Parts: sequence; C-alpha cells; structure tokens
Amino acid sequence: MEMVQFNNPTIKEILEYFKTLWALGHLAGVAEWDLRTYIPEDGVTARGFALAKAATLQQKLFLDKKFTELIEKAEKEKNLNDCEKGAVRVLKRSLRHYEKLPPEFIEEFEKTVTEADVAWRQAKEKNDFKIFEKHLEKIVELCIKKAEYLGYDKSPYDALLDDFEEGLTAKDAEKFFASIKKPLKKLLEQIKNSKKYKEKHALEKETYDTEKMKILNLKALEFFQCSPRRLRMDISAHPFTIYFSLNDARITTRYGKNDFARSLSATVHEFGHALYGMQCNEKLEYTPLFDTDLSLVIHESQSRFWENIIGRSGEFIKKIRNEIIKINPKFNKYGTDDLHEYFNLVRPSLIRTEADEITYHFHIMIRFEIERALIEKKIKVKDLPEVWKAKYKEHLGIEPKNDSEGVLQDVHWAHGAIGYFPTYSIGTFLSGLIKYEMEHDLGNINNLIKSKAGINQIKAWLKEKIHQYGSTYPMKELVKKSFKKDLNTSYHMDYLERKYKEQYNIK
Ligand code: MG
Repeated sequence: MEMVQFNNPTIKEILEYFKTLWALGHLAGVAEWDLRTYIPEDGVTARGFALAKAATLQQKLFLDKKFTELIEKAEKEKNLNDCEKGAVRVLKRSLRHYEKLPPEFIEEFEKTVTEADVAWRQAKEKNDFKIFEKHLEKIVELCIKKAEYLGYDKSPYDALLDDFEEGLTAKDAEKFFASIKKPLKKLLEQIKNSKKYKEKHALEKETYDTEKMKILNLKALEFFQCSPRRLRMDISAHPFTIYFSLNDARITTRYGKNDFARSLSATVHEFGHALYGMQCNEKLEYTPLFDTDLSLVIHESQSRFWENIIGRSGEFIKKIRNEIIKINPKFNKYGTDDLHEYFNLVRPSLIRTEADEITYHFHIMIRFEIERALIEKKIKVKDLPEVWKAKYKEHLGIEPKNDSEGVLQDVHWAHGAIGYFPTYSIGTFLSGLIKYEMEHDLGNINNLIKSKAGINQIKAWLKEKIHQYGSTYPMKELVKKSFKKDLNTSYHMDYLERKYKEQYNIK
C-alpha cells in the first residue's frame, strides 16, 4: 500500500481500544484451534462453555457506549484515507451484527450447531439422514430468523451470503453460475467423448506411509519457502487454516491410506489461505483490517490458486517428483506424465472435496440451488436425500448410493454455515483472473514455478496486489483497484479450456 497510516485522532482512539478486542479474539482463536485439533474428547464441553463466555465478553466490550460512539463519530469524519475508511467499514459491519442479533439468539444458535455437529457425525457414520434431519430443520429455521434480524433486500438468503462474502446476493450468485454452467458442461462432454478419457487412475489405489507423506507435505511447504518459524502444520479430518498474528499461522492437513494427492492438495490449499494472512501489511496487525474473513471469495481465490494452478501444474509435479517417489518405493514406475494425469483426472464423482477442476463447480451449483431453496422455503429438509440424488443425476449424471456419500458429505450445514458454498466457485474463478494478470506482469507462470526465485516472485506479486491490504477493500473494489477490471469468468474458463483440451487432445 502506498502508505498505511492511521492519522485521524478518532480512528487512533478506536484502534487503541480495539487492541483488547483483538487480544481476546487471538486467545479465543488459539482455544478454537486446539478444540479442532488436539483436545481430549471429554474436554469439549468445557471448551464450548469457555468460548461462548469469551464471545459474550467480546460483544459486551464491543457494544461499550464509548466505543460505539467513537465508531459513529468516525463515520462522519471527512478526509479519511483508505485504511481509515476500511477500518470504519469493517467495524460498522461487526457493530450491525452485534446490535441486531440478540445474545439469546447467538446462544441458541451456538448450542444448536454444537449438538448438530455430534448428530451429523453419527448420521454420517450410520449412513442415516434421519438422525440429522431434526437438527438441520432447526438450523434452517434459525438461519431464516438470523436473516430476518439482519435484514435483506430481496431474499433472506442474501443476508446469509453476506456473512461469508460482503455484499454478495442470491441474484449475483445465480448470474455467476448461469454464466459458467454451459461452457463447463460443454468442456466436460468433450472430455468424456475423447479417446484419453478414463474414470480411474492406478495411482488412486496405491497406498502410502503417513510419516513419509508428512515429509512430502513439509517439502512442498519448504519449496514455497514457508518458514516453520511462522507456520505449523497439524492434522484434522477437515483441513482448515487459522492465523493468530502475522507470524503465527496454523494449517491442518489429512492423511488416508491411499490416493496421496488428496493429502498434498489439502496442504497446498491451506498454505494458500495462510499466505494471505502472513503477507498482510505489518502495520495492519492488531487492527480490524487484519481480519480477512470478510471475503471468502478472496480467500478461496488464494487457496485454489495454489492448489490448482500451482499444485496441479506439470512444473510443480516435475519439481517434487523425487520427493513423491519416496512415499512408496512402487511409485518409481510412475513418470511425470503419469503423475500429471493422476493429479488432473477429470470425471464426474460424488464427493466434492475429491472433485477435479471442472466438475467441482457442479458440486457447488447443487449445494447453492439446494440451500437457497431451503431458505426461501421452496423445499423441505425431510426431502433432501431425494432432492440431492435428483440434482446429482441432473448435473453430473451420477447418483449416490447412500446418504453418507450424498446429502451428509459436507460439515458446513451442520455448523450453520448456509451461504458459504458459492464462495468456493466464485473464488476459483477469481484465481483464473489472478493468473492472467500475473502472467501479464511476470510472464508464463510455468517458468516461475521452476525455481524458488520464481516462487518468490509469485509471492511478492500476490502480496503487492492482494495480501498487503488485508480487508481494507471489499472484494469487488480490490479487483478493480489492482487489476482495473471487474471479476469476469472468461479468464478462468480460458485457462480450463486451454489446459484440458491439451491434456485430452481435443481439437
Ligand atoms: Mg478453503
């Protein structure tokens, strides 16, 4: 940023007060990370209690009259610079949430999702949607209530989307999906009709040793020059990223018995999230602008950029093949081309997180259509298993055999996160625009991936164009400021067409 400077006296006073809120959030974050990674099972209840109390304390401190009056005052100030304006915008957003959602509602919501998480796990294990049904009904009901509290223009779903992407509406999302559906479907058909099309790859079945896989993941992070002094990698069933400060990011990955690309991709994906926080301008630390969760579209653009555009590229695979073949001596027989084919195999599948770069978006469309219809009361929770099957048939031509690989596969709804899914797709399409702009400035990305120096250039560019700002600008504004254009889906579609037409020999 030209200069990060907080000059306005009111803003300075606000930021001084905010430091205590920041510290509380920091400590709650550590407790939450521990809850999701290492806590002994029986410790969960007390941790939930402590986190709920901390959240109440945060709300109380935020709604302190002295603080809210300062925010209102700052809003009326003239000549604020971009950072100062950004800070006011972000704080006003939190204020709206704290003021409009009654503490009893937040408590009920938290309690409901804590219980729903347990029920969801059981339901998934026993392969029985019935166990989860009542919980999801309650969650949908509470989400509609939340939308009513927060207010919306056209659809209650708008208010929920806004929670994950500032300003995103159901209409925006609908327009976005309408624009990508046809070209993606066409490309998928061409791939399925090509001679090289296959539904399985031998490497999917190959097993690996977890300890050696961990070393491979760490080698990938080392290649990205990610210092272990600033980032820790741990394990969880659902990989995630959280950062507590500029110099303390945590990512998790997962390990299975076979199909090693899943573990590596998860690591690279989460690294992309972590880098966003680690490359924020240091003057924004301890301020509201360090919180980048306001735009999951930007966040997913970063994680999916590293996961797909770098992590699934021929150059990256070539670079770490020697490390890959160490995880199982049998891998020696697979050359770079085999590995590349394995990492980029396109075929309709039932599980979203295992999907390739093309079919992935159909998984998201299905979830978007379902959750919107639930919130707009056009379908009922009890009909979901059937609706799910029909949608998979319609979009991907396949049907789940059971609820576990169907409607129960994602944890999001159990956590009350309705309105989250569209950000995955929109963010991925933003990553295509980012690649285009990066290549315009730095040349072919494959040349950059060849060396650590090139990786450094990629990181420095991402810092300059995106990371340094934290949440100073809303997504659309940032895209306009940094790239002088609007988010347009054609850049990512071009990337997909070029890459996969070459891979599948499509003329
Ligand atoms: Mg992610």
